Amino acid sequence: MLVEVPRIERKDRVVLPAKETAVVVVDMQNDFVKPGGKLVVPAAAKTIEPIRRLLEKARSKGVKVFYTQDTHYEGDPEFAIWGEHVRHGTWGWRIVDELAPAGGDIVVMKTRYDGFYGTPLEDLLRVYGIKNLVIVGTVANICVLHTAGSAALRGYSVIVPEDGISALNDFDMQAALRQISFLYRGTIVKSVDDVEFQ
Ligand code: ZN
Repeated sequence: MLVEVPRIERKDRVVLPAKETAVVVVDMQNDFVKPGGKLVVPAAAKTIEPIRRLLEKARSKGVKVFYTQDTHYEGDPEFAIWGEHVRHGTWGWRIVDELAPAGGDIVVMKTRYDGFYGTPLEDLLRVYGIKNLVIVGTVANICVLHTAGSAALRGYSVIVPEDGISALNDFDMQAALRQISFLYRGTIVKSVDDVEFQ
């Protein structure tokens, strides 16, 4: 079966107020990104460099940086779907070295696809007066989409640079972009380089 992707609007450039914006890096952990990981998304490796550039730009402008860290323990029901992955304390659970959190960054452990579910993320964003979230990471149609949707439903404006997210296949990637832009009124830009903070 062949399906057509509806037109997805991309903005050429987006300028965001540094004090009211945060970058959220979703699940860039060894198990999802690195060879030998338990649930590798092959396309995730090439998002490391763009995400690194985005983080550098964000930190230089004083933009708050959050990470979500998918975290499971013995017997987690998600293992029935995906197999064992990102077990707390293992190498696979750790965020990739290239994107290691810096001082001042906040890492939020999450147990489900949604970065807000059962985590302090919403409270932290409120404390810091954040209104816009630039969301990058993996997997585009799973944890990125659920986190972006959850953010939008809470009234945050969501910005997603295409070269900062990755999926297992093109369908999943396009489906995620479609839902984020249409359903959640998010802003899609082609590249992290199209995002400016001021
Ligand atoms: Zn998981």
